[in-house]
Amino acid sequence: MTSKPQSKPDYGLAQQIAYETVLSSNQQKLPLSIKKLIKSIPNLHIQKYSSFAKKRGLTREETYEITDSEEGCLWMRNDGQYIILYNELVENSGRIRFTLAHELGHYLLKHNEKTKKTLLARYSLTNEEYDIFEKEANYFAKRLLAPIPLVDLYVASWSRIYPECIEFAFDTSFTVANYIINDLHRRQRNANIVCEGHPLTHNFIDYINIDSSSQICMNCHSPQPSTHKFCAFCGSNEMIKSTAKSYTSYFLERRKVMIYSKIETNEQGTPLVCPRCEAENLDDNFKYCPYCTTFLHNVCLGKEEDKFVKTINGEIELTVAERYDQNGCSNGNLDGGFRYCPECGCETSYNEQGLLDNWRTEKDSNSDPFKSAEFTELPF
Ligand SMILES: [Zn+2]
Ligand SMILES: [Zn+2]
Ligand SMILES: [Zn+2]
Ligand SMILES: [Zn+2]
Repeated sequence: MTSKPQSKPDYGLAQQIAYETVLSSNQQKLPLSIKKLIKSIPNLHIQKYSSFAKKRGLTREETYEITDSEEGCLWMRNDGQYIILYNELVENSGRIRFTLAHELGHYLLKHNEKTKKTLLARYSLTNEEYDIFEKEANYFAKRLLAPIPLVDLYVASWSRIYPECIEFAFDTSFTVANYIINDLHRRQRNANIVCEGHPLTHNFIDYINIDSSSQICMNCHSPQPSTHKFCAFCGSNEMIKSTAKSYTSYFLERRKVMIYSKIETNEQGTPLVCPRCEAENLDDNFKYCPYCTTFLHNVCLGKEEDKFVKTINGEIELTVAERYDQNGCSNGNLDGGFRYCPECGCETSYNEQGLLDNWRTEKDSNSDPFKSAEFTELPF
């Protein structure tokens, strides 16, 4: 039985499948990990052009010719496995993400299966077919990378929005971000289109609320929850409120957003392993590590100068536990990455014990996170 060839793109289906894919991936943070989405599909894999070319002894030009694209393609192998090939030399991370999303769209919309083509090259399809598939895959990619219900959550919290906000929040190219904004204005002009809730929003609302209401530290440029009076990484109290404008003006800084190292703890603030001797199964009631005497919880220690107290026997230095008990601002256990107390700006116990690197050292050695991201490589 052969089905009738499609005569026009089915944008409704492309959008529906895009949203379902995001929803079922259970991701709760933005930008979405496209890599994770692809990895969750058992017979879909990902390979760089360079590895593909090397295995076959092809030059880069020959690779572009075979794949009919300088960006990427979806290849259906005869063993039923699908491979997304992509050009890793494309400079802009937003463009690579778009290519991966576009090829994922071809896969989920079953374009290869519909035409029984191993590669959806322009030369192997009719112009009409090629055009329809490309439009569907592009539409899918835009909706997957920046789903409208999530864009609307940002709009709701800022009341206005710029392309750069989309570019940063969703890690898209500027072209896609612009398209999203124009699309938004079109929807806003058309009063009949009601902003509908979508189950997708439940997964992301917490993240977006924090992201869009956070403050930005003027000193180290890290985003901070709006409840912090002091930056938890550098101790500065110069913070500016995040609005669409500040989000945008700090966009370039925030693009280099730092993920400072932290010590993983459980909900009681107890480290999963001792940060110094790596002992495991530490009891939540332990103050000190029973193996190496590290003070185990990250807490505010109060002012540096209150560390010494005068007694009749001369000046003595308080222990970390004593400083917390006597001088700390009793903020309880702090995040395992905080170097400074976000309430009073004093040093934390992890910082004082030298368990965390200085923020400046870490920032200076930070490289582009996208470039270091690893993609699954298949051994063929
Ligand atoms: Zn395509
Ligand atoms: Zn800071
Ligand atoms: Zn220890
Ligand atoms: Zn404090």
